[in-house]
Amino acid sequence: MQNELNKSLGTVADTSETCYNEAQSLNDNLRTVIGDVKATERLFHKSAEETHNLMKKANDNANKLSKLQESINRIENAMPLATTITHILNSLDAIQNNMAIGNPLSLDTLNHSARRAPAPKSRAIQYSCALCNGPHWINECETYLTSQQRKDRAKEINVCTRCGRACTLDRHGNHIGCSRADTLCSRCYPLRDKDESNHHAAFCSIRSQERMERIEQDQLQEHSRKRSLSDSGHPEQEAKREPLDPPVFDARPPRQPYRGRHPRGSRGSRGAHRGHRPSA
Ligand SMILES: [Zn+2]
Ligand SMILES: [Zn+2]
Ligand SMILES: [Zn+2]
Repeated sequence: MQNELNKSLGTVADTSETCYNEAQSLNDNLRTVIGDVKATERLFHKSAEETHNLMKKANDNANKLSKLQESINRIENAMPLATTITHILNSLDAIQNNMAIGNPLSLDTLNHSARRAPAPKSRAIQYSCALCNGPHWINECETYLTSQQRKDRAKEINVCTRCGRACTLDRHGNHIGCSRADTLCSRCYPLRDKDESNHHAAFCSIRSQERMERIEQDQLQEHSRKRSLSDSGHPEQEAKREPLDPPVFDARPPRQPYRGRHPRGSRGSRGAHRGHRPSA
């Protein structure tokens, strides 16, 4: 009986130890699981944080995108303004050209004073000189250079000296329906009286005289420039070039000689100018 009790007690003790050991191992496992769960939780928090950051970045980008869209909208809204400016510039060119058709000088003045960029070639109007049909304004004609040559030519081919256009003349020799019949030359009036000032700039004797003096000055300058070049140049080269480029002092000016009035003392001994005074 005592033996059996002892045996049973031993079995209980064994079983308890086994139970204890298993409980211990279960506890260990549980701890590991808890650790894993905690690690998973940390990972979850981390990924939640990253998601949050990503969301924030996405929001920022969305904001940037909307700002960009706003800018594009603004640019698109501004586009009609650019178109309007282009329209205004086109209109300005048209006005300028229209003014120039009536009065070639106005184009000159506008271009010189305003320094606006010249109109693109596609929009440039075609010039046609009423005197020689050349592609230039009548007052830039070099075929008929002096006011007297131009008046003679105008009389010959019925060009009005007031508006500078080909016209039909009445029996007094006046352009019928001339748009500039009463317009006075700004260079002549009031220096001269109205009768003498009623002409187009191309036929102005004062401008003609100034033009010829300018041309003569240019030619003198060109001559002295060539002379100083040949003085300082190499003699051999100069000798070689001579057949092609004749001595400057005997060279005739490329343009028609000026037969008008010269300023005092400019005539010299060359006698190239057989002049008569231009009439107004
Ligand atoms: Zn011409
Ligand atoms: Zn006329
Ligand atoms: Zn004049």
